Amino acid sequence: METDTDRDSELPWTSARALRDKIQNKESSAEDLCRAFLHHAQSKDKDIGAFLELNETHILDQARAVDAKLARGQELGALAGVPVAIKDNLCVSGEITSAGSKILSDFRPPYDAHVIEKLRAADAILFGKVNLDEFAMGSSTENSGRHITKNPWNLDYVPGGSSGGSAAAVAAGFAPLALGSDTGGSIRQPASLCGVMGLKPSYGRVSRYGLLAFASSLDQVGPFARNVEDLALLLEVISGHDARDMSSANTAVPNYLQNLNGDLSGLTLGLPKEYFEATLDPEVLALTKAAIAKLESLGATTIDISLALNKYAIACYQIISTAEASSNLARYDGVHYGHRSDKVDDLLSLYSRSRTEGFGPEVQRRIMLGTFVLSTGSYDAYYLKAQKTRQLIRLEYDKAFRHCDVMVSPTSPFAAIKIGEKVDDPLTMYASDALTVSANLVGVPGLVIPCGFSKEKLPVGLQILGPHWSEQTLLNVAHAYQSVTDHHTKHPE
Ligand code: GLN
Repeated sequence: METDTDRDSELPWTSARALRDKIQNKESSAEDLCRAFLHHAQSKDKDIGAFLELNETHILDQARAVDAKLARGQELGALAGVPVAIKDNLCVSGEITSAGSKILSDFRPPYDAHVIEKLRAADAILFGKVNLDEFAMGSSTENSGRHITKNPWNLDYVPGGSSGGSAAAVAAGFAPLALGSDTGGSIRQPASLCGVMGLKPSYGRVSRYGLLAFASSLDQVGPFARNVEDLALLLEVISGHDARDMSSANTAVPNYLQNLNGDLSGLTLGLPKEYFEATLDPEVLALTKAAIAKLESLGATTIDISLALNKYAIACYQIISTAEASSNLARYDGVHYGHRSDKVDDLLSLYSRSRTEGFGPEVQRRIMLGTFVLSTGSYDAYYLKAQKTRQLIRLEYDKAFRHCDVMVSPTSPFAAIKIGEKVDDPLTMYASDALTVSANLVGVPGLVIPCGFSKEKLPVGLQILGPHWSEQTLLNVAHAYQSVTDHHTKHPE
C-alpha cells in the first residue's frame, strides 16, 4: 500500500507534465504541491546551495492564483502549477536579480524577461532564483559572488557552470524544470555534470530580452529537465519571436512535445574526430562510445567527420566573449547601474572604486582582456582575427552538416571536478570548454542527455549538436536514446 511518505519521497522526481495533470485533474492543489516542493528544497538546499533566493510567500501566491483560476473554470496553461527554478541572470520584476554579482546585490528589475513573461502566461510557478558564476563567467559556480553550489551527486564536487544552480536544482528534485543561459556551454556542461538534460537553442530561437548580457553574439536562454518530454515542453513555452531582442527570429515554433518521435532509421550521426582526440578522460570516452553504439542499434548510422578548426575555438571564444563582455558590463559603473562605492573623491574614482568593489576577480580579468583586445593596436591582431576565424569555423560546420544530420560527442572532457581543484588555474578551466564553445560561435543548437556514470558515481552527458533550427531532431534523437536507457531515471540519494 502506498503511504504518504512514499508519495512525498516520489514527488521530487515527478515529471512536469504529471504535476500539471495532477493539478488539472484536481488530485492535488498547486498550493499543496508547491508546499511539498518548498519543504524538500528548504530542507535539502542547506547542503547543496542551489538557491540564491527562495521566497515562500511569492511562490505560494502564484500557486494559489493557479488554484483560483482552475476553480473559476478557466483554462490552465501548459505548465500550470509547475515549479521552474530561474537562473539569477534573468530579470524577474521586483525580485532581486544579481547575476551572482555583488555589484547587483540589491538590484530589483522593474520588468520581467521575455522568458519570464512566457512562463507566467503558461501558469508556471517561478520557483526561486538559482546560483551561477558571476555574470555567467565560469564552469563551476566557484566564480559566484554569493556562494559555491555543490553537486547533488557528491557534495565535494562542483555542479558545473555557469548554470550550476539550475542543473543542481533539477538534479536534486527541487524543481522538475529550470532555465539557464549558455554563452559557451553553460547549460550543456552543468547538465552533463549533474546528470540532467539541458538544451541550448539555436541563436534567435529564444529572446534574450531581460537576460543580463554576457556576450550578446553568443548568449542563449534554454531549458533544463529530467526527461526529454519536459525539455521539449519548456522549450516550446519559452521560444518565439520578440521584437525587443533584435536577434530574435520570426520563425514558427514547432510543437516540440507533440512531434517527438524516436525513429532513428536513416539518421546519420557525425563523429567529429577532433572532439574525440581532445584530452578526454577515458571513462567519459567509453561512456560516449557506448551511447553512440546504442544509437546505432536504434537504426542510426555513423560517419567520421573532421572539424580541423576546432583547435582555434577556445581562443576565438575568449577574444570575442570578453570583448563583448567588456562592452556589456560598462553600464555597471555605480551611476547607471550597480553598487556605488562610498569611498570616492571624484567621478573617476567613483567609477573605478565601485567596479573594483563590485566585480569579482574572474569578471575583472575578462573585462581587462576584452578591453585589451578591442584597444587600438590590438583590435586588428586579436578581435578582427577572431571574427574571421569565427566565420571559418561557421563554414566548416555548415560543410560538416551536409554529410550528417547531427553530431554526437562528449560534453565536458571530464566528469565533475572537486571543489577547489582548479580554482587557481583559469586557463585549464577555459580549456575544458573545448567541446561546447563552437556551437555558440556558430549559433547552432545543442542538447545534453545523461549517458552513464563514472566509477566515482558522477554523471556524464552525451552532447548532440545539429544545424540551425534542428531542435526537433535533437529532441527526437534524445527521445530514442531515453526510451532504451535508464540513466535519466537515476537520482542522488
Ligand atoms: N564556461 C564558459 C565560460 O567560462 C561558458 C560560460 C557560459 O556559457 N556562460 O565562459
